[in-house]
Amino acid sequence: MKATSTLLLLLVSLAHAGIAQQAVRFEDFFIDSTLRIDYYHTGDAREEVLVVDRMLRQGPWAGNPRNPLDSFGYGHYYVKVYDLSSEALLYSRGYDAYFDEYRTTEPARRGVKKTFHESVLVPCPKKPVRVVIEARDAKNQFHTIFTHQIDPSDYHVMAAPPDPRDRIFVVLDSGVPHDKLDLVFVAEGYTAEEADTFKADLEKYREILLTLEPYKSRERQINISGIFRPSAQSGVTQPREGISMNTVLSSSFNALDTDRYLLTEDNRSLRDIASAVPYDVLCIIVNSTRYGGGGLYNDYTIFTAHNAFSQTVFLHEFGHGFAGLGDEYYTGDVSYVDFYPRNVEPLEPNLTALLDPSRLKWKDLITPGTPIPTEWGKAEYDSLQKAMGALGRKRHELVASLEKQGTSRDSVAAVKKEMDGQLKVMRQRVSDILTDGPQKGSVGVFEGAGYTMQGLYRPAVNCLMFSNEQKAFCKVCERAVARMIGHFAGESQ
Ligand SMILES: [Zn+2]
Repeated sequence: MKATSTLLLLLVSLAHAGIAQQAVRFEDFFIDSTLRIDYYHTGDAREEVLVVDRMLRQGPWAGNPRNPLDSFGYGHYYVKVYDLSSEALLYSRGYDAYFDEYRTTEPARRGVKKTFHESVLVPCPKKPVRVVIEARDAKNQFHTIFTHQIDPSDYHVMAAPPDPRDRIFVVLDSGVPHDKLDLVFVAEGYTAEEADTFKADLEKYREILLTLEPYKSRERQINISGIFRPSAQSGVTQPREGISMNTVLSSSFNALDTDRYLLTEDNRSLRDIASAVPYDVLCIIVNSTRYGGGGLYNDYTIFTAHNAFSQTVFLHEFGHGFAGLGDEYYTGDVSYVDFYPRNVEPLEPNLTALLDPSRLKWKDLITPGTPIPTEWGKAEYDSLQKAMGALGRKRHELVASLEKQGTSRDSVAAVKKEMDGQLKVMRQRVSDILTDGPQKGSVGVFEGAGYTMQGLYRPAVNCLMFSNEQKAFCKVCERAVARMIGHFAGESQ
């Protein structure tokens, strides 16, 4: 359904407080085309500045004209488009950026500045508009960090040229982009000879997505395509291993100095390739067997295709990238320093600081009779995690020392076997707490979430956003994902 052929009455709030809402028709303000604004985002923990790189007009608009405003409130940034004459807010969308993660690291706190290339996509306006980007502070209050007046007739707004190297594969066609969630997978680290491997991977991850609820029951609201541009080399860059690969997106492990964190900083190439199709959400499939990935809300999701855990890594990271879900786990080697400030309610729909239990985000989903907060065996889980970490380190040191002393291979193997047996027992107990405790399947308020041991809570003992051994979302995450699909499908929120 084209916006130009449908009467779309949209209630758009006005920027000036006190002025009554006004009905605005999408087609009065926009054409069915996408305006892409590329910019550089520079700064450290204390300051940030945005500088325009270029503006491009590309393909049809993928978003739903019935839902031009983003009322979810997720993401640390918001792009907003205002009509110049009436000041009416015409379009908005929240998003996260690599920069926002960088600013929470130790170097950024020391004042080391870094520049990232980023893009925002908005529907192409008919008349000059004001584009504003707002960033949240530590208390999640918005501040304008960028204002730019854009005249769509300005000759600097160039059409994005197609690239003859790109091949497009459509693997799920449910209808015109306006009424669907349009998902695109971009190939990374596949050579020209590996086009068939990419196609097989594309079909595999389409199936994986569509077997998980709520995607499964909403398949008819989703379009999926893939874009293949060959890389010069096969694989991905792994700095700590000294492996440097020439790939189309220059993706790399050890993002933010975290071993398994995989991201790309080549946003310009990513957005150039993706411009071949209309898209709401962007995924990168990396041709590698190593464990890892990443997901930035409304920016992109990235994962390796050929690891034993790739399925859950993809679904977990896509939960961040598409639906703005937060990490429910709180152990591990992430490099953020106080990613969630104390006494501030997180933006994510599946995390809470429980500052006001009467306004709990998932209050209506709580399993009747469940106490708030909810006891789940945390003390035992935490002590097991600590003991497993200590035993793992002891095993590593002991084996190294025995090998150095020239101990026989059989004796070393016996030591390894003994310690592995102890680790296995502890891992089994951890698994029992998560999958077989008295609160299994309940929705409650469970302490330990968002890289934080105390003071942050999650909705279930276990969830795809908590553990890579869990293959389903908790009820709260499932509902949040369903709402996001519905947003793109034109359902009112
Ligand atoms: Zn969850």
